[in-house]
Amino acid sequence: MIIVLKHEASQAEIEHVVERIKAAGLAVHVSQGKERTIIGAIGDEALLRNLPLDTFPGVENVMPILKPYKLVSREFRKESTVIDIGGVKIGGGQLQVIAGPCSIENKESLVDTAKQVQAAGANILRGGAFKPRTSPYDFQGLGIEGLKYLAAAKKATGLPVISELMDPRDIELMCEYVDIIQIGARNMQNFRLLTEVGKAGKPVLLKRGLSATIKELLMSAEYIAAQGNVNIMLCERGVRTFETATRNTLDLSAVPVLKEETHLPVFVDPSHAVGRWALVAPLSLAAVAVGADGLMIEVHPDPESALCDGAQSLKPKKFAALMEDIRKVAAAVGMAV
Ligand code: PEP
Ligand code: MN
Repeated sequence: MIIVLKHEASQAEIEHVVERIKAAGLAVHVSQGKERTIIGAIGDEALLRNLPLDTFPGVENVMPILKPYKLVSREFRKESTVIDIGGVKIGGGQLQVIAGPCSIENKESLVDTAKQVQAAGANILRGGAFKPRTSPYDFQGLGIEGLKYLAAAKKATGLPVISELMDPRDIELMCEYVDIIQIGARNMQNFRLLTEVGKAGKPVLLKRGLSATIKELLMSAEYIAAQGNVNIMLCERGVRTFETATRNTLDLSAVPVLKEETHLPVFVDPSHAVGRWALVAPLSLAAVAVGADGLMIEVHPDPESALCDGAQSLKPKKFAALMEDIRKVAAAVGMAV
């Protein structure tokens, strides 16, 4: 850690900082320049975690050397993590597309949609059984009934399935039915939920919170990894900004930033980012171009009558056409599909 002192810091203030760092068990290197004094704290930075050096008199700036996230950082692990979901390899240079309806509505329609997205090239089926709705009066999902339909769709197609978990009390049930547990944007910082998911050991797709920074997303992933589960996919799904033209603002720069910062695979969900089906295709292509390992796209056979997020859902035919274009962009950036 590097501590920069104020120009006017007194000798007593400098010595106080030095003493407190030494008392915490670190060595100190003081560089006394003409204008400023800089203190280097040498040793385990974690020992300084509870020392609020930035509030000490005479201190101008404190710069940690290490990242606050460890297990999920590229510093910790250079090679990209590859997650194997029943033979579907995520993060290994092949673009993986997760597709399906926002919420599971009935068995026939889900099985039919699963077959259609599979024929178009999707390798994982999505479908919400527990829906995090803004209004308590909106459709909340079919719950366990929905998970059973998801299992039926998996049986009919062989596609691995993903669904959102909102309550730690449903973990066992979820693990029985899904191959990947989704943690939604609204629960990205539900730390107890993250810890429980970490303990469960199932692969997790962790979505970025509505107004979470990239660092906060990585800290949330660290909660899961700290329990011994590093099978985590991160998902950029748009953040809240002043812009109202789209539901959220897709932060495409998060993709290359995350690829630099972490060894975990990075997904993009353009559907929830834009909220309008017509914008899903261009942003899907852009996401692939900036290096996403995968996409999550909402597809519904009849968006006009969808119980949730119809406005942003693609019809299966449109999804199939988009997959054709995705293949071209993926090939251009050296990804297999
Ligand atoms: C979803 O994918 O079903 C969903 C609710 O997305 P988000 O958590 O990103 O809003
Ligand atoms: Mn949705």
